[in-house]
Amino acid sequence: MRFQAIQTAQSRKILKVKTDVSDIPSLYGSSVFGHDAMKEYLSKEAFKAVNEAVRKGTTVQRDIAQKVADGMKRWALEKGATSFTHWFQPLTGLTAEKHDSFYEVWDGKAIEKFSAGSLVQQEPDASSLPSGGLRNTFEARGYTAWDPSSPAFIIEKASGKTLCIPTIFVSYHGEALDYKAPLLKTMALLSKAASEVCNYFDKKVNHVGSSLGIEQEYFLVDKALHDARPDLVMTGRTVFGHAPAKGQQMDDHYFGAIPARVFNFMYDLELECMKLGIPLRTRHNEVAPGQYECAPMFEEINLAVDHNQLLMDLMEEVGRKHGFKALLHEKPFAGINGSGKHNNWSLITNTGVNLLSPGADPSTNLQFLTFFIIAIKAFQESSSILRASIASASNDHRLGANEAPPAIMSVFIGTTLTKVLMDFEANKKTAPKASDNKVINVHNLPDIMVDNTDRNRTSPFAFTGNKFEFRAVGSSENCGRPMIALNAAMADQLIKFKKSVDALIAKKKKQEDAIQEVLKGYLKDSKKVLFEGNGYSDEWAEEAKKRGLENIKNSVDSFDSYLSKAAEEIFVKNGIFTKAELHARYEIKLEDYIKKIQIEGRIMDELVYTHILPAAMQYQHRLAEAIVATTNAGISKANNSAMIDLLKEVSGHTNGLKTSVDRMVEERKKSNNIDDSKKKALAYCNNVKPIFDEIRRHADKLEHLIDDDLWKLPKYREILFVR
Ligand code: ADP
Ligand code: MG
Repeated sequence: MRFQAIQTAQSRKILKVKTDVSDIPSLYGSSVFGHDAMKEYLSKEAFKAVNEAVRKGTTVQRDIAQKVADGMKRWALEKGATSFTHWFQPLTGLTAEKHDSFYEVWDGKAIEKFSAGSLVQQEPDASSLPSGGLRNTFEARGYTAWDPSSPAFIIEKASGKTLCIPTIFVSYHGEALDYKAPLLKTMALLSKAASEVCNYFDKKVNHVGSSLGIEQEYFLVDKALHDARPDLVMTGRTVFGHAPAKGQQMDDHYFGAIPARVFNFMYDLELECMKLGIPLRTRHNEVAPGQYECAPMFEEINLAVDHNQLLMDLMEEVGRKHGFKALLHEKPFAGINGSGKHNNWSLITNTGVNLLSPGADPSTNLQFLTFFIIAIKAFQESSSILRASIASASNDHRLGANEAPPAIMSVFIGTTLTKVLMDFEANKKTAPKASDNKVINVHNLPDIMVDNTDRNRTSPFAFTGNKFEFRAVGSSENCGRPMIALNAAMADQLIKFKKSVDALIAKKKKQEDAIQEVLKGYLKDSKKVLFEGNGYSDEWAEEAKKRGLENIKNSVDSFDSYLSKAAEEIFVKNGIFTKAELHARYEIKLEDYIKKIQIEGRIMDELVYTHILPAAMQYQHRLAEAIVATTNAGISKANNSAMIDLLKEVSGHTNGLKTSVDRMVEERKKSNNIDDSKKKALAYCNNVKPIFDEIRRHADKLEHLIDDDLWKLPKYREILFVR
C-alpha cells in the first residue's frame, strides 16, 4: 500500500479551478438565503419578522414561519435543491444532518411539500448522539429548532443539492444537547449586561454583540498516503513514525511560497466558502511542513462558529476533489508543531463602537479601560472553566507541550498597556511618548498608546490591539464551547461590576469615581494573571506556581471545573446551563476522552501485530539467513559482528515492542472494567497512555532499522513532503 500510495501521490494532476474573476462578486453568498434572497422571496411582513428575530432575538410566529418556509422552498427549488435538512451541532463537536425530501409521494405522484412545521421544528431520532444521561433511551426524542439568526444555505454534493437550516438541538425536556443553544443564551446575556455598563458612558447603546474571527490551522496531506496509514484514518493522528531527517528545523515553510496543488485547493476552498457567505480572507503556510492556515473576516459570534464548522466540512469535501486530506487534529505528527484555532474576540455596540478598541476620542478612554479590565478580571476568575472549555484528549498534545500556549491560563496585554494599567492603579499619569501619534488623553486618566506590533505567540489569551485572542483553542474544536465560557464569564463580571458601581453611586459617589474605584479593585485582584514573558519557559511554570495560578496539564483533571462552584456561579446562576446540563457535559467529555485514548490503543495494537512485527520478523529472517550464509562461506564471527549486532538490536526492539503492547492491552482491559467514568478516564490517562510512548519508541526505532522495502506504513518524510 505504501509504494502504491507514493506512486498515486506523485502522479496526481493539478486540478485547475475555473473561475472568471468577474464572477466573484456574484458568487458571494449565492448559496445563502441571506438578506438579498429574503428580500426577493419573502413578503414584506415575513422579511421584517425574520430581520427582527435576527436583530432582537424575537420569535417568528407560526403563520409567518409558513410564509418564510414557502419563500425559502421556492428559492431552494429554483437553485436545484431536492431535499432539506436541519443542520445542527451536537456534542460530538461535529455537525449533524437529517435529510428529508421536498417531495412526498401522493396518489402515485411526487408532490412538493415543505411546511412551517418542518422549518421551525424537527424531531430527529437522535438517540445515538451524546446526551450525557440527559436523554435516557426511553425518552430518546430530541428536537431541532430553527435559528433564524443564522441564514439557511445550500450544500452541493455530487449527487444533489440540499437546503440546510441551522438549528439548535434540545432534549424532550428542553435541555440543550448542542453548542448553539447555550451560545445564543450567552449572547443575549452578554448584550444586556454590556449595554447596561455602556449606558454609564452612552445612553444610546441598547445592544452589544460579540464578534469572532477564527484563524484555522490545518495540515494538508495526500489522500492516498493518508489512506495508507490506518492510524491517521482511525484517529486523525499518527501513533507511529520516525522523525524525518528534516522536520521543521529549517523554518523554511512559514510564509513560504504555496505549492501549486495546495494553492488550487485553497482557491477552490475560498470559492466554495464565498458561495456560502464565509468571508475567508487570508491564507498562508504555517510553521510545520504541510501545515497551513486560513482566516475569515470576523463576524457576529454565532455566525462565525457556524461558518467555522462549515469550513471544516468544506475542507474535507474540497480536499477530496484535489486528492488531499485536510488534517484538523491538534497533533497529527509527533515532533512537529500542532494546530490550533485562534479565537479573536471582541464586543461591538449597536452604535458601531468596538469596546475593546482604545479610540482617539478622550471620552471613550474610560469606557475602553472599563471593558478591558473587566475582561481581564473575568478571564482570571474563570480561568479554570476556560481551561476546561478547550480541554480534550487531542488538545492535551499541545497545551503545555513546547510549542503551543501552556496550560497555565495567563493574559498578555503588551508592555504599553501593562504600564497604563499599573499607572492607573497607582493614580499616576503615564507620560505620552512624543513619537506616538495614537495618544489618548483624558483629564485624570493615563494616556493610552497602543503598539500593535507588540505580540506574544506563547500566551493563551493575548490582547492584540482591539480584541483578545484566545489562542489555546484546539484546531478541531467546535468554537462554541470556549466561546460559551468566555461570553458567560464576561457577562457575569459585567453584571457584578454594575452592581458594585451602582452601590457606590447610591452612597453618593460620583459615577466616574465609582467606576475607577471598582476597576482599581479588579486590577489588584487579577493582575497576577498578567504575564508578558515566554510562556514556554520553565521559569514561567515556577513563577505561575508562586502566583497561585493553576497549571492543569491533562484534560481529565481539567473537566472537574464543569462541576465547580465557579461554574455554578457563571453558568447556572445566569441561566445558561442547569446543573444537570453541566453534569451531562462533564460526562460527555470524559466519555469522549476515554474513547479517543481507547481507539488509539486499539489501532496501536493492531498496527504492531499486523504491520510492524511481521516486518521485523522478515528482516530478522533476512539477517539471520545472511549471517548463516556468510558464516558458511567462511567469514569469522568477528568479521560478521556488524550483522550480528544489527540482528540483536532488531530483536531487542521486537521484544520490547511486543511486551509493551501486550502490557498496554492488559492495562486497557483493566481500565475498561472500571465503572466510574472519572476513574476510568484517569486510568486511561495515567496507566494506558504512558505506555504509548514506550511502544512508539520501539516501533520508531524499528522503522529506522528495517529495510525500507519491508516497511508498509508511509513514512513521515513521505506524508509531509510528497505533494
Ligand atoms: P493575526 O496577526 O493574528 O493573524 P489578523 O489581523 O489577521 O491577525 O486577524 C486575525 C483575525 O482577527 C481575523 O479573523 C480578523 O477578522 C479578526 N479580527 C479583527 N478585528 C476583530 C474584532 N474587532 N473582533 C473580532 N475579531 C477581529
Ligand atoms: Mg493570530
